[in-house]
Amino acid sequence: MCGIALALGVNVSANRAVVQGAGTALRIGAANFRRELKRSVALRSLLNRYVSVLLIQLAQTASCISAHLVKQRLARWLLMSHDRAHADTFSVTHAFLAGMLGVRRVGVTEAAGALQSRQLIRYARGRVKIVDRHGLEAAACGCYAIDRDTYRQVLG
Ligand SMILES: [Zn+2]
Repeated sequence: MCGIALALGVNVSANRAVVQGAGTALRIGAANFRRELKRSVALRSLLNRYVSVLLIQLAQTASCISAHLVKQRLARWLLMSHDRAHADTFSVTHAFLAGMLGVRRVGVTEAAGALQSRQLIRYARGRVKIVDRHGLEAAACGCYAIDRDTYRQVLG
C-alpha cells in the first residue's frame, strides 16, 4: 500500500514509491480515500494493523542492516519479494538490489553469486529465479522469519 501518510492525516508523503514487478494495482484518489476511511471501520482496522506491521518491519530492517551479512540480507529480501511476487521468477537489477540493501553493486554480485553457487537461486540479466526456497530461508538471517510471522499474526 502506498500513501499510508494520508491515512495518518498527513497530506504529503516523504517517500517515493517504486514498482518492482508487473501486475495490477488499485488506485483511489485522496478525497475518496479519506471518505472511505471515515466510513469504514474495517478499512481503518486493516490500515492500523498494516502500519503496526510496517513499523515492526522498519525496526527489524534497521537492526538487520547493522547486524547481518549482505548475503543473509539479500536472501531475506529475495524471500520477501518471492512472497509478494507470487512467482518463482521476477525481475530485479543489481543497481536496485544495491539500493535496497545499502551496499555497492559488487556486494550484490558477491552475495548473489554465493547464493547461486549453493543452487538456491539463479540470477542472470536482471531475472532472479528462486530455485530452493527452503534453502534460501536457511541462508537468510532470522529477520525474514520475524517479518513473515509478524505479517501472518497481524494481517492474517
Ligand atoms: Zn537480518
